[in-house]
Amino acid sequence: MSLDPKRTILELKELRELTADSDGAQRLAWSDTWLKARAWFEAKIDALPVEHHLDAAGNRWVTLQGDSPKALLIGSHLDSVPNGGWLDGCLGELAGLEILRRFADEFYGRPPVTIRLVDWADEEGARFGRSLLGSSAFAGTESIEADRVRTDRDGIRLDAALLRCGIDIDRFPEARMEQENAEAYLELHIEQGPVLESLDLPLGVVLGTKGVERHAITFCGQEAHSGSTPMNARRDALAAAAKLALEIREIARKHPDAVCTMGSLKTFPGIVTAVVGRCEATLDQRDLDAAILARMYQEAREASERFATEEGCRVEWSKIWNIEPVPFHPDLIEFCEQAARETAGTAHRFPSGPLHDAAEVSRAGIPAVMMFVQSLRGISHNKIEDTKEEHLELAITALDRLATKTVQWILRS
Ligand SMILES: [Zn+2]
Repeated sequence: MSLDPKRTILELKELRELTADSDGAQRLAWSDTWLKARAWFEAKIDALPVEHHLDAAGNRWVTLQGDSPKALLIGSHLDSVPNGGWLDGCLGELAGLEILRRFADEFYGRPPVTIRLVDWADEEGARFGRSLLGSSAFAGTESIEADRVRTDRDGIRLDAALLRCGIDIDRFPEARMEQENAEAYLELHIEQGPVLESLDLPLGVVLGTKGVERHAITFCGQEAHSGSTPMNARRDALAAAAKLALEIREIARKHPDAVCTMGSLKTFPGIVTAVVGRCEATLDQRDLDAAILARMYQEAREASERFATEEGCRVEWSKIWNIEPVPFHPDLIEFCEQAARETAGTAHRFPSGPLHDAAEVSRAGIPAVMMFVQSLRGISHNKIEDTKEEHLELAITALDRLATKTVQWILRS
């Protein structure tokens, strides 16, 4: 029995039947529906000659033992955002399952290297606002003290929600043991953006995940009456913020893959009859190149000070969060490009704006790469998320080729 990408598409539809309602997928991590999806997945792997278990962070590991203990990891996540699509996460997981089956059949249950499929726990972070929870424990970049007290909309704490699923957050560091013998990591994902569709290409080679600088910026001016305060006497905090909102577009446009977003803006007192005395904004900047990211951050800071001065205001910055860019492994990028070209005739290299579990694996020092498949309309985290079935088949076939090339690379190393 050889690789059967059509079976993967049927299984994706089966999972959708089981875990979606009229608003979309509801496989929110640590929820009953997520557990149902995982039980369904477990039933699929029970038919294979594999060992499987949950690690200390709730990641499921499925191991097909090979002649060599050196392991190729393939992974993704079964969890979804609320009202999510039918492909985000589970495409990569079920494609990995199909490849595991292919290896098991072709090598009579004993491939030359060990093949391990992983279903990461809580990639999305949709319930507690903490993305990549399971893979960060694997990588050793977990933040237990900050995370345990996070609460969901109903006030339930993260550590309590995990305990309900049998996971003790204090044991997270034990998940690092799964790194043993890991030689490479592969992940297939939908693009979730418009790039491949705009180029009319089915497959993309992901160069890495962009670093993120995320800051809160507060402009302080003077609240004043909108009727009595002459224009030249105003210290308008919104005017300074608005200038910055336009300037960050220019800052980003100097670099082909950079993005800068001012996603939130609050004005105080926020009434129709007052000049804005205080304006709170957020800035999110991303690029794959750490030097470009640092330069964009510096330029935004300088611009904010310039605009504050022009408007008679002060400006303060405070960091919300940041993560460094994570470039993927050059050899695996090359194999990914070859696999995509052999399958689809063409491929495009570009960085990922969204973060993925592959970034955490890469931060653990394990060579990693991702392949993207085109998303229709560039839409994801939405029930209308979709990809042409012929593109899904190409992607599963290309991931399989990439897996074979990577196994040969592991054997050579
Ligand atoms: Zn995803």
